[in-house]
Amino acid sequence: MLIAGQRVQAAHGATFDRRNPLDGSVATTAPAASAADAVAAVDAAARAFPAWAAIGPGERRAMLMKAAQSLEAKAEAFAHAVAAETGGSALWAGFNVHLAAGMLLEAAALTTQIGGEVIPSDVPGNLAMAVRQPAGVVLGMAPWNAPVILGVRAIATPLACGNTVVLKGSELCPATHGLIVEALQDAGLPAGVVNFVTNAPADAAEVVEAMIAHPAVRRVNFTGSTRVGKIIAAVCARYLKPAVLELGGKAPLVVLDDADIEAAVNAAAFGAFANSGQICMSTERIIVDERIADAFVSRLAAKASSLPLGDPRQGPAVLGSVVDMSTVERCNALIDDALARGASLVCGGKADNTLMPATLLDHVTASMRIFHDESFGPVKPIVRVKGIEAAIACANDNEYGLSAAVFGRDVARAMNVARRIESGICHINGPTVHDEAQMPFGGVKGSGYGRFGGKAGVHEFTELRWISVQTTPRHYPF
Ligand code: NAD
Repeated sequence: MLIAGQRVQAAHGATFDRRNPLDGSVATTAPAASAADAVAAVDAAARAFPAWAAIGPGERRAMLMKAAQSLEAKAEAFAHAVAAETGGSALWAGFNVHLAAGMLLEAAALTTQIGGEVIPSDVPGNLAMAVRQPAGVVLGMAPWNAPVILGVRAIATPLACGNTVVLKGSELCPATHGLIVEALQDAGLPAGVVNFVTNAPADAAEVVEAMIAHPAVRRVNFTGSTRVGKIIAAVCARYLKPAVLELGGKAPLVVLDDADIEAAVNAAAFGAFANSGQICMSTERIIVDERIADAFVSRLAAKASSLPLGDPRQGPAVLGSVVDMSTVERCNALIDDALARGASLVCGGKADNTLMPATLLDHVTASMRIFHDESFGPVKPIVRVKGIEAAIACANDNEYGLSAAVFGRDVARAMNVARRIESGICHINGPTVHDEAQMPFGGVKGSGYGRFGGKAGVHEFTELRWISVQTTPRHYPF
C-alpha cells in the first residue's frame, strides 16, 4: 500500500493472497488493510490537499504527462501482472496501458480547462462568478477487468482538478493496481497526493465505509457490479457524499436489415470476445433482423470459432483465461438454461476450466436468463427480431443501459434507432466496446450515474461555487 508517500504493510501485518485463475499458484500477497489503515490513507490525502490544490496547472500538467510516460515504461510489468492475477492476454494488457496513458495525458490537458464563468448579476456593481474549485479528497474504487484503464480513470481527472486521492485496489489484482501507483510516484507527485490501499475480500464493506464516512472525503467513484454499486450508493447517501457509479452492462448490438454484414460481424466478434467478454461495454446481446440473420450468424460463427484461446503466459491469444471458476460456472449455467428453453448452440460451449471458448447461442428469447443477465464471460446470445420497432423494444428490455451499437447503411435511420435506445453510450456502425479519455463515459438505469471523461469528469470532481465581488456601494432595504 502507499500512505503519505511511504510503502507500507497493514498496521497489524495482515495479508491476503491473489491466486492465478488457471493453476492456483499465488500470484500476489498483498496487505489486508483494516479500517484504521484506510482512515490513515484518507488522513494523508487530506494533509496533502491544500498544497496540491494550490499549485498551478502547468506544474500539475507536467507531472501527469510524466506519469503517462512512466506508465508506458511499465508495459511489460503490467502484462506479467495481468496474466498472473486475472489471466488476461498480453493484447488486453497492452491496450489497457495504452488507453490508460492516454487518460493521464487527457487529464494533463484538462488542468488548464477547469474554467468558470461570469454571470450577469441584477445587483448594480456586482461581479458574480461561478468558480470551479478542487473538491477535497476523492476516493476511487476500481475493478480487475480492465485494471489499468479503470484504476487510472478512478484518479486521473480527480488529480487534474486539484484533488488528492485514495485508490482502493481490487482484491483480484492488487499488484496490477499497485503498478499504477508506482508510475505516479515515479512522476514525482508529492507524498500523500496519491494513496493506495488493498484489502482482503471479507473486509471490503468495513474498509470502504470507513473511508466514505471520513469527513475529508468529498467525492466517491466506484466502478464494479450493480449489486455492489447499490451498496456504495446507500453508504454514500448516509454520509451525503456525491458519487459517480459505473456499474454493470448488457450492451445490445442491433443489426438492422440494411447493415453491412461484414462490418457488423467484425464489430460483434470484437465487442463480444475482447478480454473474453469481461468488459462493462461487452456486446452482451446481439439483436439481428430476421431478414439477414442466417447470413450474419454463419459468418459470425466462423469468425468466433477461429479466435485463438490459450494461457496468456505461454504466448499470444485473443481469449485468455477468465478471471475465476465462478465465471465458468455462471456461464455454464447460462448455457444450460438457454439450451433447455430452446436456444441453439452455434459455436463454443461449456468449459471445465477457466479457458473458455468463444460461445454463441442463437434463437435466444426473453424467457432465458442470458437474455437479461450479464454473462461477463465469452458466452453471448443472439436474438432474432422482425423490424425496427421490435429491435428497439428488445434493446430496451433490460435493467442496464451503459453502451449500445446499431448497424445500418441508412445512417439517418440507424441514428433514429440510436436516439431511442436507453443507454449512456451508443455507436452507429461501430462496436459497443469503445472508450476514449475525452468522451463522456457512463450509463443510465442499472448501469449507474455520473460521467467520467473530459469536461464531464471535471464537473464531477470539482465544486462549483458562486463567488461575487461588490464593486460599488450596495443598496440595502434597511
Ligand atoms: P464487484 O462489484 O463484485 O466488486 C467491486 C469491488 O466492490 C470489490 O473490489 C470489493 O472491494 C467491493 N465490495 C464488495 N462488497 C462490498 C461491500 N459490501 N461494500 C463495499 N464494497 C464492496 O465487481 P467486479 O467483479 O470487480 O467487476 C465486475 C463488474 O464491474 C461487472 O458487473 C462489470 O460490468 C462492472 N464494470 C463496470 C464498468 C463501467 O465503467 N461501467 C467497467 C468495468 C466493470
